[in-house]
Amino acid sequence: MNVARTIEAFRRLRAQLPEPVGFVPTMGFLHDGHLSLVRIARERCASVVASIYVNPSQFAPTEDLADYPRDLDRDLALLEQEAVDLVFAPEEAVGLYPEGYDTWIELPTIISRLEGASRPTHFRGVATIVAKLFNIVEPDVAVFGQKDAQQALVIHRLIRDLDFDIELVLGPIVREADGLAMSSRNKYLSPGERRAATALSRSLRCAEGWYLSGERKAENLRHAMMEILAAEPLVQQEYVSVASPTDLSELETIEGRALVSLAAHLGRTRLIDNTVLPPGESLL
Ligand code: AMP
Repeated sequence: MNVARTIEAFRRLRAQLPEPVGFVPTMGFLHDGHLSLVRIARERCASVVASIYVNPSQFAPTEDLADYPRDLDRDLALLEQEAVDLVFAPEEAVGLYPEGYDTWIELPTIISRLEGASRPTHFRGVATIVAKLFNIVEPDVAVFGQKDAQQALVIHRLIRDLDFDIELVLGPIVREADGLAMSSRNKYLSPGERRAATALSRSLRCAEGWYLSGERKAENLRHAMMEILAAEPLVQQEYVSVASPTDLSELETIEGRALVSLAAHLGRTRLIDNTVLPPGESLL
């Protein structure tokens, strides 16, 4: 496995990879969710590239950029075990945002709701770094997680609108045994918060159960979910949404597919989770 710390070094190594090339972008501190995406890329492609970069432009000044967990040596060992061919792990000070950097990608409609409403500059940072990484890596296939559902919709739109010749593949959410969606940020949770955090996935399973028993009123699902979250004093809910996966507008009645998603704070940790209705349907 080769590791490139600069764009120039990466491009030299990338030029030698057999096609098609699959790409898994990450912010590191890898867990089984990330590795499941690497395996999906491995199955589909002759070569696999992963990136590890904690992208500063997607963090607001008040967010956890400085504290975001990092462990490059451990990440590289895990990627090597998965037979990744090439890792792009740019040194933080190296050239992705040279002085005077001034080009940003905005998707005003899709980013105005849910995560975008709570984190107004987040998706402009995500869309911009992903477009930059697509230009550097030149993948045939890009694998993202459904865990970040709105991000997946943003990337889907970005690929279409900017004519990237890249197939987007989404991997399902990988969970801990008790249902908590794996996340690098789970590391921040105290033992009590970690126990309370199962309320997020429990509320999603409840929405799925109600849906399967015939409930189609979105408001009833939102209420049932909010009650489960409210029963955990350590969970501060931020939003609970039952929305159209096309434009993320809140639904009144579920007729086709729905994206059920939520965000909550546990102490200083902000967690998100989601599911698609009918259960098992794809997001895209
Ligand atoms: P991050 O390092 O948090 O930027 O995530 C990198 C990629 O891994 C994104 O496409 C995420 O959606 C995906 N991902 C994060 N957590 C999970 C999970 N629990 N299951 C599947 N994919 C995930």
